[in-house]
Amino acid sequence: MQAVRARIAAAASAAGRDPRAIALLAVSKTFPESAVRAAHAAGQREFGENYLQEALAKIGALSDLALIWHFIGPIQSNKTRAIAEHFDWVHSVARANIAQRLSDARPAGRQALDICLQVNLSGESSKSGVAPDEVRPLAESVRALPRLRLRGLMAIPEPSDDIEQQRRRFRELRLLLVQLNAGGLALDTLSMGMSQDLETAVMEGATIVRVGTAIFGERKRA
Ligand SMILES: *Cc1c(COP(=O)(O)O)cnc(C)c1O
Repeated sequence: MQAVRARIAAAASAAGRDPRAIALLAVSKTFPESAVRAAHAAGQREFGENYLQEALAKIGALSDLALIWHFIGPIQSNKTRAIAEHFDWVHSVARANIAQRLSDARPAGRQALDICLQVNLSGESSKSGVAPDEVRPLAESVRALPRLRLRGLMAIPEPSDDIEQQRRRFRELRLLLVQLNAGGLALDTLSMGMSQDLETAVMEGATIVRVGTAIFGERKRA
């Protein structure tokens, strides 16, 4: 945990950025409740999960702690109610009907659900995410939903050892955000960078880095 915080601080300082402008999301998928408790004891408050059933069990077991939960995995439409009820953020919205369902299911007593649109950057083989040229219409529909608050964009570029390649992908996401804001939106979040490439993401403007392995160790399953 402290090692990852030090990496973020060093990357921020190299980029001339305030390290406080970069939030660390600890991705606890596949790790037990005890690992989350240990991270909490080390000062971590925000946790990311990909698999709904696993996440719900952990959220329930950890309800004695004040944690902020982010859903970052693929979303099936029959899962939207539980996601809207139990999470604070969703990073992986890529379709208008999923956004509609999340808004409809967000309980009235809770603040609006914070949303990032997952973008399928050019050249990615992954099937998830909205295409770059469809980001604006999706952003407009999400913005119109009463129980959601559109915060920004998320991407999971293909892993690459080539720093310039990583940089191009993250820059593409940053420029999409700049374009949306130039068109009248006021988005403040770029969710990008993981254990392998968080420095490059910070260099290109990440405001949330999503880090699993570098905090919790290797996962036994994907
Ligand atoms: C698993 C996962 C991460 C964390 O990846 P690490 O390489 O373990 O840091 C980040 N984002 C998403 C969407 C993930 O599924």
